[in-house]
Formats: sequence, C-alpha cells, structure tokens
Amino acid sequence: MMHVDSSENADPHEIAKFNDSAHHWWDPAGEFKLLHELNPLRLAWITQHLDLAGKRVLDVGCGGGILAESMARMGAVVTGIDLAEKGIQVAKLHGLESGISVHYKLMSAQECAAQYAAQYDVVTCMEMLEHVPDPAIVVQSCGQLVKPGGSVFFSTINRNIKAYLLAILGAEYVLRLVPRGTHDYAKLIQPAELARYARQASLDVQQIIGMHYNPITSRFTLGGKPDVNYFLACKKI
Ligand code: SAH
Repeated sequence: MMHVDSSENADPHEIAKFNDSAHHWWDPAGEFKLLHELNPLRLAWITQHLDLAGKRVLDVGCGGGILAESMARMGAVVTGIDLAEKGIQVAKLHGLESGISVHYKLMSAQECAAQYAAQYDVVTCMEMLEHVPDPAIVVQSCGQLVKPGGSVFFSTINRNIKAYLLAILGAEYVLRLVPRGTHDYAKLIQPAELARYARQASLDVQQIIGMHYNPITSRFTLGGKPDVNYFLACKKI
C-alpha cells in the first residue's frame, strides 16, 4: 500500500481502494459507470453557472479525469489533483489517447492551496468529500484556491435513512451499480454541514440542488430535494 501522510487529510484505505480500481476509470461499463453516466449532467449544471471557455479550473480529487477532460473540452485550462497515484497515471495516459490536454498532479488539496492560493477561476470537487477524514479541510482549501468572485462546485451524498437505503444498500448491495464498500455511511455529509464548511471558507452558497438516479432508465436528473445525492454551488466572497 502506498504511504499516505496523515497530515494530508487522506484515508490510506480509500486511496488504496482507488489505486486498485484505477485501471477501470475509463471503462464505461465498469465500476465507474455511474460517473460516466452522470458526467454530462454535472457538466451542464456547471455551464449553467458560468462559461468554462478560457477559465482556469482546478479539479480536486480528479480520479481518472472524467470531469477534468470534459471541462477541458469546453475550452477550460484544467489542472486535476488526486492522491491516488495510479488514478493520476491513468488520467495522464487517457489524455494522451484523447488528445485533451489536462495538467495532472499527485497532490493534496492543502498542499495545492499552500502553493497556488487564489489562482483559479473555478474549483470543482465532485464525489470526493465523502472519502476524506475531514471534509471541512478540503472545503477550506478549495476556498483558498479560488480567486475572489470565483466559483466552487461540490457534489456528494447526504447522510440520512433514505440516502443509506438508496446510495449504499440499493446501489452497492441490491442493484450492484457500484462495488460494495464504495461509501461509508458515517462519512456522508448533510447539506447543512457542507454549507457550514463553505461559509467557514468564505464561500457564499448559491445553490443546493438534488440529483436523482432512476435505475430503470439509468438516467440522472437534477432538481428537487437534496435528500440523497446533491450538488452545491458557491462563490468566493
Ligand atoms: N471527482 C472524480 C472522481 C471521484 S472518485 C469524478 O467525480 O469523476 C473520488 C476520488 O477522490 C478518487 O480518485 C480518490 O483517489 C480521490 N481522493 C480520495 N481521498 C482523497 C484525498 N484525501 N485527497 C485527494 N484525492 C482523494
């Protein structure tokens, strides 16, 4: 297992899990299938808030680069950071194949914030906060990385009975949409908690919106209550 410094606010088991799965990142029918299916919707949501063309964007917890590449395709100048070394390698290789240029770095959000404070027009951090020991620290770093007036976009999973039944029991055990053990109930984050972390990071919360998955049609839709999956958009004050 790769050594992960505890000061990096990373769970070594999570990083090992993502390293082990890294070769599946770009398999549209593999264990990251849902992220591939979700990507057009989250990209459309981001571009409802702003035009990505020419923006300097940082994608925190970029994994294999599904979101990062799609934002670069829209004309953004994208950097992706992650602590799973194999994920970063896969992302770099995929960029060579696709011809989409994204700059990838093996780096934590805090380390990045210490070096590149207020350098980005946009910071994205999707499906990542529920995998770290202290999500407030990641949110704080995102707030430091974005320029004043810039935007930060998060997505994660709520913590309540319905989220447990759908996102863990349903998705991991019944429908087997994602591998067992992908999500840990205790690490899920309620919208009010995420909004509080954002405010503590001088981020003004602009929108919290639910994201719903229909397993019969395999379609995601945006809207309604943030009771299971949700997106949160904020702006740096
Ligand atoms: N944001 C991507 C990937 C989500 S999967 C997408 O939505 O497509 C979660 C990612 O977070 C994995 O790539 C994992 O390696 C990364 N991750 C987990 N803990 C991390 C940490 N402490 N610092 C940086 N990345 C982390």
